[in-house]
Amino acid sequence: MEEKVKYLIIGQGLTGTWLSYFLHKQGISFKVINDAKTFSATSVASGVINPVTGRRIVQTWMIDTLLPFAIDSYKAFQKDENITIIKAAPIALIHPSLQMKESFDYRLTHDNIYLKENDNSSLGQYFNTPFGTGEIDQCYWIDLIQFLKAGREKLSPHFIEDYFDISDLILTEQDVRWKNIIAEKIIFCDGLNTMNNPYFKALPFVPNKGEALIVKIKGLAPTNIYKTNITIVPWKDDLFWVGSSYEWSFTNALPTESFKEKMITALDAVLKQPYEVVDHLVGIRPANTERRPFVGLHPKYPQLGICNGMGTKGCSLAPYFSKQLIDHIEQGTMIEPEADLKRFTSILSD
Ligand SMILES: Cc1cc2nc3c(=O)[nH]c(=O)nc-3n(C[C@H](O)[C@H](O)[C@H](O)COP(=O)(O)OP(=O)(O)OC[C@H]3O[C@@H](n4cnc5c(N)ncnc54)[C@H](O)[C@@H]3O)c2cc1C
Repeated sequence: MEEKVKYLIIGQGLTGTWLSYFLHKQGISFKVINDAKTFSATSVASGVINPVTGRRIVQTWMIDTLLPFAIDSYKAFQKDENITIIKAAPIALIHPSLQMKESFDYRLTHDNIYLKENDNSSLGQYFNTPFGTGEIDQCYWIDLIQFLKAGREKLSPHFIEDYFDISDLILTEQDVRWKNIIAEKIIFCDGLNTMNNPYFKALPFVPNKGEALIVKIKGLAPTNIYKTNITIVPWKDDLFWVGSSYEWSFTNALPTESFKEKMITALDAVLKQPYEVVDHLVGIRPANTERRPFVGLHPKYPQLGICNGMGTKGCSLAPYFSKQLIDHIEQGTMIEPEADLKRFTSILSD
């Protein structure tokens, strides 16, 4: 029997979960399709929201807008579901070099509201700190495993566990059809799978491979994220996520011995506590050459939409841009020009 909905969402990673959540909140009909056997960047990500970036420690794109929106959204989600998924977790910086210490000291007094001095003595108990320490305030840790699980449960009346094959999609003048479902719009939130989508494959995706270790560190407080030339993120119990790599050139999505060795060398150099490696994760980020999301409707086929290209910052970008896309379609509001799919009108219209 046919079922009519307004939206068909492909993928229940960070982006598809937020899109579905906002549709659910507004009482708009939808179905979300996800295949647990396909690759998901969200399921291996550390879940950090960090308002600054890079060697120069500058504020990230749009963070003054994205951060309050993300905090409110994750808090609303956790209240609805009666779980804890967002925690304030300042980043304790253990400067890895004199150059990074100088960069931090400079930025502390120039255009940065997120940096703070910190108490070196408590960190010195656990870490070697030859170049001193600092702090990044207003950082958050999102429990993405819980978020995906709770999202999956919340959305269960709308959820279809299935592999979406683009060749099964039928476009008509006014809607799309997939199996028994008729939808006004289909929105692709399927991460890197969109690279194989004939309607969107011209978008400048550049997959970025990232590996991480899960490490048991006894006694280290899970109240902070710790960052030196590696990042150590509280995971659960006495486990920490340790990473990551950013590889633009790779031949497979497998964990590598060289990454593991590099992390062990870095941990040996910085950590005073004993530790034990318990797992090795690997994922591919849906990054792109512009480092800006892809949000909007296809210029030639307005039944097709996309919310994707979240790159290294899905935790802060996905709530805001999912909401922007829905508001754009439902109320005709503007999408942030730097994220708007309109910038690709010519390449998508060929
Ligand atoms: C090692 C690593 C660490 C990271 N750390 C952070 C971090 O600390 N903070 C941060 O903000 N970001 C981080 N990221 C980036 C973050 O993971 C991404 O920006 C974000 O997860 C992208 O979410 P998404 O929903 O767009 O894509 P995905 O999470 O990839 O979701 C796509 C979904 O679509 C489904 N799917 C795909 N194809 C099909 C199909 N054919 N049929 C049905 N379903 C399909 C998949 O199963 C998946 O659930 C990290 C990434 C990696 C790899």
